[in-house]
Amino acid sequence: MNAIKRKILLNPGPATTTDTVKMAQVVPDICPREKEFTAVMEGLRQDLLKVVHADPQEYAAVLFCGSGTLNMDVCLNSLLPQGKTILVVNNGAYSCRAVDICRYYGLPCLDLQFPVDQLPDLTAVERTLQEHPEIALVYTTHHETGTGILNPVREIGAIAHRYGAISVVDTTSTFAMRPIHMEEEQMDFCMASAQKGLMAMAGLSFILGRRSRIEQSKDYPRRSYYCNLYLQYEQFETTGQMHFTPPVQTIYAAVQAMKEYIAEGEQAKWARHLRVAEAIHAGLEALGLREAIARELQSGLVVSVRYPDDSHWEFERIHDFCYQRGFTIYPGKIAGAQTFRLCALGAIDESDIREFFRVLEAALRECQVAIPAACSLAEGQTAGGQREER
Ligand SMILES: *Cc1c(COP(=O)(O)O)cnc(C)c1O
Repeated sequence: MNAIKRKILLNPGPATTTDTVKMAQVVPDICPREKEFTAVMEGLRQDLLKVVHADPQEYAAVLFCGSGTLNMDVCLNSLLPQGKTILVVNNGAYSCRAVDICRYYGLPCLDLQFPVDQLPDLTAVERTLQEHPEIALVYTTHHETGTGILNPVREIGAIAHRYGAISVVDTTSTFAMRPIHMEEEQMDFCMASAQKGLMAMAGLSFILGRRSRIEQSKDYPRRSYYCNLYLQYEQFETTGQMHFTPPVQTIYAAVQAMKEYIAEGEQAKWARHLRVAEAIHAGLEALGLREAIARELQSGLVVSVRYPDDSHWEFERIHDFCYQRGFTIYPGKIAGAQTFRLCALGAIDESDIREFFRVLEAALRECQVAIPAACSLAEGQTAGGQREER
């Protein structure tokens, strides 16, 4: 086998994977209706629950073929009873996407907006639930990947539960990275896709949810065929299979990634991501580059960096210089503030980040951007617009 060139992805997923995960996709052809394959999926479903310390009696993992947005779609369209309303706690691009999904389905939805560089105001969340007893589902993004902000999902979940609503949390960019305990975090549903924290391949997504709530949803309006949560859950529970063709090879890669996740260990993996994030902070500081989000609000997984005030700065040129040398950086998602992102996902460590900053420094010199970089705003300040781009 030829060595596969190693690329360092600093974009917010898909992440850098190990060669063993890449190669796990190369397997003998198999019909996914075979018992042998059903057993592979069953093992993965059990392990996914273990990642978030969920009791398999109480919770179930349901797999889908698609990217992470599919989970959002499934949860929103499947878990709303007739005549009830969804509350989206919205302080970023991924929450905006949830609102969009509600609109596409014509679902009643309250879009409770907060500034994108701040945490949601819990008093406002509580007041909204008080004033709207029709709210049955509170939707929060655990980690707004567009900015790097970590939201207080435990507190929001507790408020939702006090008012009889369920808490659905988009954990796509925290699952298998930050330690999560579903029950303690007051989550009835969480979700992720295989290409982020699990460091596997894109094309497999999963929702973890309370069995009792999924079973209740059997009688809710069925708004989609392919993307109905109860239908897929029932298939898994009765046959161990996906309703329709699963992404077979992608699932083998996820199983290998799960083995590697367990071998590395929850705490050790989180410590590694933090180490990578610290190396990113240090590298930025050394070049005089400023971050857009206050450090204490950050997840430790995504750093939003402001463009320097320098006429020579051209993101595309810097990107291309780094890309040609094996490092991928990614544009930001804060409207009115010019930013790019450096993310700590994937099978990378601090030595990769140190190497990246040598390349970034060379890119700045090549483009004649001043070092240390010129910055007029203080750290954590965003210029102008408060809403993120969709
Ligand atoms: C990546 C991500 C998603 C899913 O995006 P896809 O492009 O569909 O994989 C959803 N929510 C969050 C918070 C994410 O980071």
